[in-house]
Amino acid sequence: MTTKAVFLLPDNRKFKLSDTVLKKMFSFAQDLNKSPESGGIMLGRILCWEDHIIVDQVSEPLSSDIQSRRRFIRKSVGHQEFFNRHWKLSQGRCFYLGEWHTHPEKQPVPSSVDLREWRKLICKSVQQQEQLFFVIVGTQELVVYMGDATIKEIIKLGSYQRNSIEIVN
Ligand SMILES: [Zn+2]
Repeated sequence: MTTKAVFLLPDNRKFKLSDTVLKKMFSFAQDLNKSPESGGIMLGRILCWEDHIIVDQVSEPLSSDIQSRRRFIRKSVGHQEFFNRHWKLSQGRCFYLGEWHTHPEKQPVPSSVDLREWRKLICKSVQQQEQLFFVIVGTQELVVYMGDATIKEIIKLGSYQRNSIEIVN
């Protein structure tokens, strides 16, 4: 898997977004005035031997979700099925790594609602992992945040420019 979207964690591990995932997330970028916010969950692998965390599957907005220009509310039903399907396919080696959503901004900044929701999620760790990741996709770049359950902090890991995707191919 090739990707240029690699982010360094405070503990020196690396967090990666696969090319397929980058393309899929940017395909929902809010380029038009009427494009609504989109989002979903991020699934992937935690490679202990390489110290890498890789996102290689993301769910897309479903009809049960609520989408408007500045709001995306994910309902759990379909996204849970998405997780279950990939969990079976990977024979239990796939992890829920966090959430992604779009913003109608070039360089997205988390809203107070985002930060509140992220804090809630890191407090109820689903698969015992200590970190969860949050991506906001803007029209020009995406930003990656990490929430740590032990220190209850949310930190920015970095950003990735949309026009870098073309260089990869
Ligand atoms: Zn947001």
